[in-house]
Amino acid sequence: MGESAIEVVIVPYAADNYAYLARRESAREAVVVDAGEAAPVLAAVDSFGLELRAVLSTHHHGDHVGGNAELRRAIPSLRVYGAAETPARVPGLTDPLPPDGRFEVASMQFVALAVPGHTRSGLAFAGHGWVFTGDTLFGAGCGRLFEGTAAELHGSLRRMVESFPSTTRAAFGHEYTMQNLRFAARMEPGNLAIAARAARVAKLRAEGRPSTPSTLAEELATNPFLRTKSPELRARLGRGEDDADADVFGELRALKDRS
Ligand SMILES: [Zn+2]
Repeated sequence: MGESAIEVVIVPYAADNYAYLARRESAREAVVVDAGEAAPVLAAVDSFGLELRAVLSTHHHGDHVGGNAELRRAIPSLRVYGAAETPARVPGLTDPLPPDGRFEVASMQFVALAVPGHTRSGLAFAGHGWVFTGDTLFGAGCGRLFEGTAAELHGSLRRMVESFPSTTRAAFGHEYTMQNLRFAARMEPGNLAIAARAARVAKLRAEGRPSTPSTLAEELATNPFLRTKSPELRARLGRGEDDADADVFGELRALKDRS
């Protein structure tokens, strides 16, 4: 995977969604990760003077692919990358990707990490020191289990953090970080990294700024769904050290769903 730098523009849309425009430094050619709506993406492309080459779709939920068809009408040469496993679910798909498939677009190299759990065929796009996580990993949280098992989503999160250096930036699909940190603090009241991150995120949000991206290191330190080995978290759930990580994860996910 190339280590050369890319520039990423965060494009907020709808209530709490984020799309991401990525390009090689100073290049005009760009791609967008998750075009849930076309208009905000096109406006950002125009304001930065970019040429949009491709959409990378992490998964088929409407708030992530809702703008694909309109973008293809606006830009006939546009490529749309998404999971080959469920091609009919990604509108405008031109480049179906196998699990963990590698591809090059706009002079950038990405791997489409297969991350089942939130959806069956979910992908995370990683390259150039970034991982675009869709609804699999959130700031201090993770997606809901719509199509997969707790063990699958747990495995996907572990793969994501173990496949890349901890300095990798994690760019997630929704602004849920503050709510997630409140849940995280309840699970590990003694974790000072959670309190410190909550203070940083509260300040960002008060200034109207996004909490994305984080880093994988930051997630490993504060995200309860990556901290199933924490004795404090296990004690909170009435779990001992012999319980499997995936079981602790599943209970945590169920508890968060009810919170
Ligand atoms: Zn989703």
